[in-house]
Amino acid sequence: MTHPSLLEQLRVDLGHEGPISVERFIGRALNDPVHGYYMTRDPFGAAGDFVTAPEISQMFGELIGLWAAGVWNSMGQPRRLLLVELGPGRGTLMQDALRAARIVPEFRAALEVHFVETSPVLQQAQRAAIAQSGVDAVWHERIETVPDGPAIIIANEFFDALPVRHYVRSPAGWCERLVGLAEDGSLTFGMAREPEPYIKAEAETGAVLEIGAIAYQIMLTVAARIRQQGGAALVIDYGHTETMIGETLQAVQNHQFVDPLAHPGDADLTAHVDFAALARAAHAVGAEVHGTVTQHDFLTALGINERAKALRLRADPAHATEIDAALKRLIGQDTQDMGILFKVLAVTQPGMPRPPGFGGDPPP
Ligand code: SAH
Repeated sequence: MTHPSLLEQLRVDLGHEGPISVERFIGRALNDPVHGYYMTRDPFGAAGDFVTAPEISQMFGELIGLWAAGVWNSMGQPRRLLLVELGPGRGTLMQDALRAARIVPEFRAALEVHFVETSPVLQQAQRAAIAQSGVDAVWHERIETVPDGPAIIIANEFFDALPVRHYVRSPAGWCERLVGLAEDGSLTFGMAREPEPYIKAEAETGAVLEIGAIAYQIMLTVAARIRQQGGAALVIDYGHTETMIGETLQAVQNHQFVDPLAHPGDADLTAHVDFAALARAAHAVGAEVHGTVTQHDFLTALGINERAKALRLRADPAHATEIDAALKRLIGQDTQDMGILFKVLAVTQPGMPRPPGFGGDPPP
């Protein structure tokens, strides 16, 4: 059976319903059950649209596995710990984390792995990735169904994949940005006729305010659970540390930026994470916030240089060059490098010592 493309489907739907919010548009483009970007494909790696840190090097997931073991230790070594990953992609981070965790057998024995993943294709990839680990896992479509208990929750490049809302400053006030149909049948931005009565910030006409309401809501859920049941969350993503006016919605296809409205379902859509908003959500429910720190500072404090050195000793020359290149990609400090663009935030139960990587502790 052939399906109309998502663009065709959206044309029909918008023709019937009229324009939809940017948030709904992104939700359809990413998560439509038939055509959604993540629902139909594995977008990672050189042949895909983009490459994430765990796909660059095994060192990334390994260090996060050891980070989790360190946090478990500060929690008083509970005998049962949920290790939860939000948006695990191919499952590579968890695979590397579980392998590294073998050096702390009591920690590994305490683990119950839970994946929160909406895409059936990626759930399959995750199952395959951890099949050899000997650890059982459970899959969920939403964090709300993860069972109770102390937990360490990991989210790498998850929050940037959540739909955002846009408001556009007009002479009358801030109006929600909408996606509608142009006369030639292409998708186009417009805005709601009536302004939102409760946004009062001053800005020039045409300025855009981007609100990650879904991200905020998920962080409230994560932080409330940590506050009540113990544990920590680790968020790694590109984004900004202050809430500002401006929009960051971007579409990437085959490693190139494309028009966000032109290829719904076939291009990845992301927005920078507003870490200040996530920190406010965590504070609002009484959890403690650590960071942000840059990915460079975080991975350096966790000992990535030492890990790279150890791997290099065992590597042939070609592989050693790869390790150096991966290290540079992960912790490089030029303005466009991941080491600077990516930020790391931790949320913990109140009173827990500062987690590894957030200052204070020298590399192991
Ligand atoms: N953490 C992985 C993948 C990042 S891509 C890595 O670093 O490689 C974003 C991931 O989040 C994908 O696995 C995608 O399917 C998943 N995802 C997107 N929206 C989601 C949602 N609302 N709930 C759960 N998973 C989601």
